Amino acid sequence: MSTEKKPTELAPWLSSDDCPLKRPPLSLMSEATRDLHDVIDEHIRDSGRPYLHPASPTLQLDMLNSENVVAWQEAKAGFLFMGESCWSELPHLYARYGTTATSELLARVRELEGARAAVATDSGMQAIALIFDALMSPGAHAVIMRQVYNKARTYLQWVAERVGGSVSLVDDGDYAAMLDAIRPETVLIFAETFTNPLMRAQDLERLPAVAQEGRERAPALKLIIDSTIATPWAFERPLLSRAGVDVVVASGTKALAGQDRDLWGYVATNNIDIANHVMDLVAMRGGILDWRRAEAVLAGLTAAKGAHAQRCQSAEQIARFLAGHPKVERVFHPSLSDHPDAEAIERDYRRCGSLLSFRVRDCDEKLTRHFSDVLATTVVVRYALSFDGLTTKVNHHQTVSEYFTPPERLERDGFHRLVRLAVGCEHHEDIIACLNWALNHAPSVTAECLATWKQERQEQLGLCLPGA
Ligand code: PLP
Repeated sequence: MSTEKKPTELAPWLSSDDCPLKRPPLSLMSEATRDLHDVIDEHIRDSGRPYLHPASPTLQLDMLNSENVVAWQEAKAGFLFMGESCWSELPHLYARYGTTATSELLARVRELEGARAAVATDSGMQAIALIFDALMSPGAHAVIMRQVYNKARTYLQWVAERVGGSVSLVDDGDYAAMLDAIRPETVLIFAETFTNPLMRAQDLERLPAVAQEGRERAPALKLIIDSTIATPWAFERPLLSRAGVDVVVASGTKALAGQDRDLWGYVATNNIDIANHVMDLVAMRGGILDWRRAEAVLAGLTAAKGAHAQRCQSAEQIARFLAGHPKVERVFHPSLSDHPDAEAIERDYRRCGSLLSFRVRDCDEKLTRHFSDVLATTVVVRYALSFDGLTTKVNHHQTVSEYFTPPERLERDGFHRLVRLAVGCEHHEDIIACLNWALNHAPSVTAECLATWKQERQEQLGLCLPGA
């Protein structure tokens, strides 16, 4: 492509004295300029969207002139001042505020959550951090359930410190303690359902009732539920349809994306002021979902629902198998009748989640770690973090999530000696076969056997991993 100009032909438009009345024609400009604008226009005609790239969507659009921007600004003002909706769904102007793909995804999220407004974020943790930042004012107090995701808890504690506020931790299931913890300056309760890895279920009648009652003492109080593990598909009725529930946050990275490929998350609410506040934060500091990921998630959302249902069913079969196995001491899964929240699960939930954890009989922390390593040699069950992807994953909970927690605290909170299993899309009998093999043979697999297996496996796969 030549960048050479046609000086003679364009010369009149370069003169300050007698610049022609008509616009400088593209046909007289350099070949590079003509080619660039021709292909961009062609792409706009083909795609029907005014992207500023010959082949791809772009972060911003050709608005043609200021009128469209004014219309956008007015629509935003309408959302902000009339309180009708959240400006997260305004048409694409600049991608940090949203794109066509994020708007479409938000419409799906609103439908799933029964929400008036939603904001899409670039990860689940971003959604959680945003809502904490939006609500934690100077001196504010928060009540948080002990079993919430450890990064969410740590972030909230950090925010509280910065604003001269405080956080009270309450045991999951102890609704009396939760009510007691609420004080006039309490601005939020944060709970998760199901919890990881003990799979406690929030009672969706009692939890919102506590928030309602707490509001008599703490008028600004908002109840936020992280429903990542349960998913919106799990509930008999949307969480936000329950009086007392203000905000749902989730990591879409897990079940709603379902393939361990795309990080994303969302904040959903019927409180338009909160949604707009969160969206203002996104617009200022970033954190929105990129359009490519939004498109990928949208394309997979229907399949993700089916895959999650299948994983949940497999998890039930596996939990039942483990619960009946003589070498297993205890299994934690919402489908089991000995679950501490069985009544609420029966009443409020229609999916029991794909995550479970268990204790192997006569295994201390070290042997539990050994068991997890042995299980991972089956290859069908892989040693990995996270859940709700394609493959089944195992990890030793203490190693992965509580590595620096003192053993006494681990035991006090019930997080000790846990094998965590994130059930994938394999047939449940294949996973059961692997578990049964490991339960029967883990004690006879030596540390040397494990080291040899790892060495050989790395060689087979041509891998060089940390710790190798
Ligand atoms: N919430 C829960 C319950 C999680 O388990 C996680 C991550 O594991 C998150 C939020 C954070 O999600 P993300 O990894 O998408 O930031």
